[in-house]
Amino acid sequence: MNQFSIAIHGGAGTILKEDMTAELEQAYIKGLQEAVTAGYAVLEEGGSAVNAVKASIVVLEDNLLFNAGRGSVFTKKGLQEMDAAIMDGKDLSAGSVAGIRNVRNPIELATEVMLHSNHVFLSGKGANDFAIKQGIKLEPDEYFFSQFRYDQWKEIRDSDNYSLDHTHKGVEELMKDKKFGTVGAVACDMHGNIAGATSTGGMTNKKYGRIGDSPLIGAGTYANNKTCAISCTGHGEPFICAVAAHDVSCLMEYKGMSLQDAMYEVVKVKLVKMDGEGGMIGVDAKGNVSMIFNSAGMYRGMRNSKGENKIGIYND
Ligand code: ASP
Repeated sequence: MNQFSIAIHGGAGTILKEDMTAELEQAYIKGLQEAVTAGYAVLEEGGSAVNAVKASIVVLEDNLLFNAGRGSVFTKKGLQEMDAAIMDGKDLSAGSVAGIRNVRNPIELATEVMLHSNHVFLSGKGANDFAIKQGIKLEPDEYFFSQFRYDQWKEIRDSDNYSLDHTHKGVEELMKDKKFGTVGAVACDMHGNIAGATSTGGMTNKKYGRIGDSPLIGAGTYANNKTCAISCTGHGEPFICAVAAHDVSCLMEYKGMSLQDAMYEVVKVKLVKMDGEGGMIGVDAKGNVSMIFNSAGMYRGMRNSKGENKIGIYND
């Protein structure tokens, strides 16, 4: 039996202990632990890596604290438009959705795209039509609303700025005090198959149908049994230009690098040169896990069949 493992993230950015209350910190730790536990339970029962990452992401999407599903950020027009992707490293099949509304769990829809459409990437109204056809659960706008995100959006909605996640500060501070709240999961199951998934509301005050790296296969999400499964979080634009997730896979495949070294090269060297603030989580088909970020913090957690079980927030 292969070593099995799951890793998750709930976003990266300027996450500092001094900005956190004890209650909020506990709420984040609880939310992260619940997501790790949900994914690990699937793996422990012999379930697939795909089902494990989906289970973890659903828990994070349902949690108001994270910028995905319920609690997603608001666009310039005051709407919540979500993106998600999932990839199966066993056969390189993938499903993505972008700019979708009112879908309770965007990762469920991305999985439906992967399994039951003849396509990889659906967007906007078409993706919503597909959700209805497949019987995916929808919710009214109120379900996704959080006062916290709404207040955050109100502070910058009259400007041309967009922000990278939760804070109550003014525009200038918003732009320098960046936080990201996207969620992601990667897993390796007991059969040695790996998968990766990411889900996000994107960036506060985004406009013109802006889409980040999260739903883009190869940029924010990637999985290949030969190399690694990766889920990214951070400032989407540089991650797209760096084709960040796939670059880790390439460094492993063509240069023979380990998961840890390849992720270090992309996050701590290449992305830094491109002002690409953020991080990523990864697994390989032996069940090794790595979680690396170049920002002040990253909400993260992991558990494996060797008995390791860790939750982290800050750079420690
Ligand atoms: N990468 C996401 C995006 O650019 C944001 C995030 O990770 O929080 O849409």
